[in-house]
Amino acid sequence: MKVTDLSCTMINWKSAPWNTGTGSFGGNRLLGIVKVSTDEGIEGHAFLGSSRQGADAYVGPMIEFVKPFLVGRNPLDIGAIWEKLWKMNRNVSTNAIGAVDVALWDIAGKVAGLPIHRLLGTCRDSVPAYASSGLLPSPKAYGEEALHFKDLGWPAYKIHPAAIPKDDIEICKAVREAVGDDMILMLDSMWSYCYEDAVRVGRAIEELDYYWYEDPLVEEDLYNYIKLRNKLDIPIMSVEYAPGRLYGMAQWVTQQATDILRGDVAVTGGITPLIKICHMAEAFRMKCEIHHGGNSLNNVANLHVTMAVPNCEFYEVFPASGANKYALVEDIEVDDNGLVYAPTEPGLGYEIDWELAKREKIEVVS
Ligand SMILES: [Mg+2]
Repeated sequence: MKVTDLSCTMINWKSAPWNTGTGSFGGNRLLGIVKVSTDEGIEGHAFLGSSRQGADAYVGPMIEFVKPFLVGRNPLDIGAIWEKLWKMNRNVSTNAIGAVDVALWDIAGKVAGLPIHRLLGTCRDSVPAYASSGLLPSPKAYGEEALHFKDLGWPAYKIHPAAIPKDDIEICKAVREAVGDDMILMLDSMWSYCYEDAVRVGRAIEELDYYWYEDPLVEEDLYNYIKLRNKLDIPIMSVEYAPGRLYGMAQWVTQQATDILRGDVAVTGGITPLIKICHMAEAFRMKCEIHHGGNSLNNVANLHVTMAVPNCEFYEVFPASGANKYALVEDIEVDDNGLVYAPTEPGLGYEIDWELAKREKIEVVS
């Protein structure tokens, strides 16, 4: 079996704009539908780009550097291919490397007639979801949103606050008061504090019985993460954007700078490294909480990995409003018990909305 082509169909992706304390999302973006073709007629797909940064930011180097390398290779040599793709990360973004890797796993699943999580080693068939907030106008609004998801049966809510330490503590208090003691709450401070503020906010949310404290400091600040983790009791989760990704994270584990690892198929560079990160965490009896993927098919790919590891506790729905869902016939849904379920069809197992893709098509880059 040989790869015969790599192409990316660019389509309009319009969604209502929303913000976090550190960035804007939505509006008019481009989604890329990546296609890996083979000489046996089996195609693998992935989505490229997010509603924060569209596929146009990534597609050029993918076609220029990855395509000449990929065409002619056996698409089932995923490990060997990924190792070479990773070495291109100085000029090809992890998002593009990840999209190609996801498309190869899609092919592998279709060849085997199995969902990807079966090839990775299925551990379970469902996982609890958490609602991950955007920036809301007031502490009260966060409390109301958290309560809304509690009423829907979701077990957990994560706050993306204003990224202003004093205000963030007020938001965290308001949400705890709104939902009571029995909903799991997390704070993602979006790498926005200095060390001293990170200690203050961390102590406040320990008092409020928060479940994890995510990205309080910038991801290159290993020195202060080690200090912070020694100071606080609440579990700290960093490494979403750790320099070096899989390879950089070894330092975070051995230097005891984080309690929980983090990754997703876009930022980490595919299913191949994400499963390795989860396994590395498992060997240290650590969790690896999988981040949202920025587009619908990346979320599906994340879900396959989540089902194939014992140490990812939750599935992240960001934004909580669901505004990221786009271009699948049916998207991943959370049921009345707050659970999402393992895909059952071969490959990624979710159908691309080709009618929509045709309507919104701009060009094919190849
Ligand atoms: Mg985060």
